[in-house]
Amino acid sequence: MSLLELSSIAAHYGPSQALFDINLSVAEGEVVALMGRNGMGKTTTIKVICRMLTESSGAIRFAGKDMARVPSHRAARAGIGLVPEGRRCFPNLDVRENLIAAARPGEWTMDRVTDLFPRLAERADQMAVSLSGGEQQMLAIGRALMTNPSLLILDEATEGLAPVVRHEIWAAIARLKADTGLAIIVVDKSIRELRGVADRAVIIERGRSVWSGGFSDLHHDITERYLGV
Ligand code: ATP
Repeated sequence: MSLLELSSIAAHYGPSQALFDINLSVAEGEVVALMGRNGMGKTTTIKVICRMLTESSGAIRFAGKDMARVPSHRAARAGIGLVPEGRRCFPNLDVRENLIAAARPGEWTMDRVTDLFPRLAERADQMAVSLSGGEQQMLAIGRALMTNPSLLILDEATEGLAPVVRHEIWAAIARLKADTGLAIIVVDKSIRELRGVADRAVIIERGRSVWSGGFSDLHHDITERYLGV
């Protein structure tokens, strides 16, 4: 059964239409890669799912509920955990405070997050602003997990990070997939890394979902046509 189902989603930023026809589903426990060239509508789709962009039409169902009209805090409370582009944390709170501020009851606790990212335990008393980019990203993922979501959305989680840190983030995503029943949407440019963790891909072009299928069917002609690689 689908955990998340988007049908015929259109969305605007004021007078400018960014999404025209997005169809996308994510099953329980499934990892879906949301792909497409720059500016095609991946982040906008995520904003619609999280109800941060409310100028939208079409159907959104999450965990059996109609989400198309709910405000963003209700989407978060319903179990959608977002790691936004730009890894937003509270800069002047320390790591522990950042994690606690996000916490909602459930199996994800500070201990479990620091087990996934031991560096966050080492930095527990350090202000978020003083963390490296990679550590801030780990904290952003940790904060989303502390909300105890049933769907985790990672928007460009490895963007701008050093290869060794990217590797740590991908390893954590693989571990989340293997050890938990969490459904995950990942936006990332690295097809090679996505291939390692994602079950399916959905490709967006100019605000439309133009291809979806298993990663084994994502052949070169498709990546060349829609992703330019
Ligand atoms: P990227 O990989 O560059 O982040 P993306 O696929 O996530 O790209 P979006 O950020 O969703 O793309 O952008 C989709 C379209 O919406 C683009 O044409 C973009 O210029 C436009 N857009 C995005 N944010 C805004 C905004 N705040 N106001 C107006 N237009 C916007």
